[in-house]
Amino acid sequence: MTVSGPSHLGAAPDKSESEHWAQWAKAEPIWDWPGGKHVAVTITFDVDAETGAFSMGDEYLQRLATLSEARFGVVRGVPRILDLFRRFDLKTTFFVPGWTAENYPHVIESILKDGHEIGHHGYVHTSVNKASPDVQREEMERGFEALESVGAPRPRGYRNPGGEMTAETTALLHEFGFLYDSSFMGDDRPYVEKHGEIELLELPWHWSLDDWPYFGFAADYGGNTVTAETWRQNMWDEYEHARDEHRAVNIVCHPEFSGRGYRFKQLEALLAAIVADSQAWIPTMEELARHVKPKLWPVGAEGVRGDGKTKARGTHLETTGDDGRKNQYSGDRAGI
Ligand code: ZN
Repeated sequence: MTVSGPSHLGAAPDKSESEHWAQWAKAEPIWDWPGGKHVAVTITFDVDAETGAFSMGDEYLQRLATLSEARFGVVRGVPRILDLFRRFDLKTTFFVPGWTAENYPHVIESILKDGHEIGHHGYVHTSVNKASPDVQREEMERGFEALESVGAPRPRGYRNPGGEMTAETTALLHEFGFLYDSSFMGDDRPYVEKHGEIELLELPWHWSLDDWPYFGFAADYGGNTVTAETWRQNMWDEYEHARDEHRAVNIVCHPEFSGRGYRFKQLEALLAAIVADSQAWIPTMEELARHVKPKLWPVGAEGVRGDGKTKARGTHLETTGDDGRKNQYSGDRAGI
């Protein structure tokens, strides 16, 4: 019997980017969060509505109950979340697929009315790893067009639908000039996600900080039945760890899951506890990106680069924190 294996089995290691990651692993940027805060916290929302079901296949177009569950997010979830953030006078970021924006323009209107940021989240939430390059481009372009058609400002940030990324979509982020991306998981600090010549200002997420693995449920696959207190405790533990390290933490929620009563109660409790702790800066993703950008790149560099002209090999970047400590990056850093 012939047993096949990964093609990498017979290939020589490609170490072209090893040095980049080795250098970055040693870096401990001084983030200098505004107001002398010790941690930056973003609690962000992916407003998928029915597009999450669309991405599971056309079969789901006939599954009206499943679609109605998804619609709950824009009918009940978003209004609750907006009210919560209004009570704390906080702004955050909503990543909205183009289809959702076109079909529920009132949701976009209410998000913008409260001063929140809207990010790009594809058009119909296509899993990019299952899509052709042409479809990936269409997802990107129609996402922009749809948000523009309902009056949203051009998004400065992107989060991938479905949790996966490809070389094609990564290249599209560069081509369309996004300030930041929130699709990769290579660090729990803001960092530079590098693929060849393309460098993205990355505000990372992770499955463990996403409410989908906790609360997601599908008729065919079942789901988890963890208590919402468990979710809140885990988010709080991550918050404390991030605060101890003076880093950022990025929590991802979906209005159709976290907007449900007993879960919303825990979301409310989490936000109240973070605010009461008085040690957190709670910005939008764009605000966070603008703050960390000069700490990751020399002043004046673009957030997403890859044209081969702006590559910053040999960069020595040094900034001084409020407390007099210095950030130092040196050597062959390829842009960090
Ligand atoms: Zn999504």
